[in-house]
Amino acid sequence: MPRPSPHPSRHAAIVPPYLLARIAASDDPRFDVAADAARRSLVRDWSMLEWRITGEPPTFVIHDHAARDERPAAAPGTGPRPDRRISDAENDDVLPGRLVRREGQPDTGDRAVDEAYDGLGDTFEMFARVFARDSIDDAGMPLEATVHFGDHYDNAFWDGERMVFGDGDGEIFRSFTSSLSVVGHELAHGVTERTARLRYQGQSGALNEHVSDVFGALVEQYSMGQDAESATWLIGEGVFTDAVEGRAIRSMIEPGTAYDDDVLGRDPQPAHFDRYIDTDEDNGGVHLNSGIPNRAFALAAVELGGFAWEHAGRVWYDVLTSGRLRPTSDFRAFASEIVRAANDRYGATSREARAIAAGWAEVGLGVPPAP
Ligand SMILES: [Zn+2]
Repeated sequence: MPRPSPHPSRHAAIVPPYLLARIAASDDPRFDVAADAARRSLVRDWSMLEWRITGEPPTFVIHDHAARDERPAAAPGTGPRPDRRISDAENDDVLPGRLVRREGQPDTGDRAVDEAYDGLGDTFEMFARVFARDSIDDAGMPLEATVHFGDHYDNAFWDGERMVFGDGDGEIFRSFTSSLSVVGHELAHGVTERTARLRYQGQSGALNEHVSDVFGALVEQYSMGQDAESATWLIGEGVFTDAVEGRAIRSMIEPGTAYDDDVLGRDPQPAHFDRYIDTDEDNGGVHLNSGIPNRAFALAAVELGGFAWEHAGRVWYDVLTSGRLRPTSDFRAFASEIVRAANDRYGATSREARAIAAGWAEVGLGVPPAP
């Protein structure tokens, strides 16, 4: 009898299996390395998926709990401060790898190490300053990441304890630390795991993905001081090489338009609940159907203008931490909790509540007014 994993979003990876399968099937000689890397990445992702189902970690994962216990005492009166630990897998398949940079240590000169360190810092800072959240668990949990995982590994994932980043194959994917929205997305999986615990399957799984995209985008916008109108609303901008006809892995505001490429095909994300995709693959289409709530969020944020983390982001965070979502909450339950939270925070006739309700209506998930 397999034990259920204590980590509902364990191995929530940024690149969905259907995209890797397209690359793996390519016989274009320009992408020999990429096709081989995608095949091996799929196999790697499968063993991680089994871990999530059975609770048994694959042999290459050795969690070093000893290293986690020595934490520097927090200085009094300084507010939350990050405690980052970046390890280097040195292109091997072993986790966590060799610890190469700890909090307060200078740049190493290794781009992936330093990008992960900076990206975790930006993510920590947004959660701390905007939402007064002290790390993933709101209790100062160290932020751990492993970079250079695997050989040309084409993915990044949250394994329940740390963020893991591959270097990419170099032909289609660059290093996954190069996009701040990817770093923020992975860390947000940890936040969801410790708050709403949305089950990583079907609609609740697509909501889990959606929440990670929301906070991934917000971290990027926050770090750039960017308002909702000038934001790209892209997730994973910069992880594709120039050989790819595409801007990013996903577009929150225009799902289905992030790429259209000979090898990758066309971005399959639906933008409306009428086109919800029923599938057994990808945990029931978690990376596909997340486009629907993503668009609702982005539309509301753009309609409100200004900084998205100050209004729409605030309401989404309220719901994530409200205790009112169930692990199996579906799109309609989530939308109605969001509308309720907007009404509670701003008033039912406020611009905020109206813009947020309109965003859901636009994607086919309108919430009837409360009696
Ligand atoms: Zn994810």
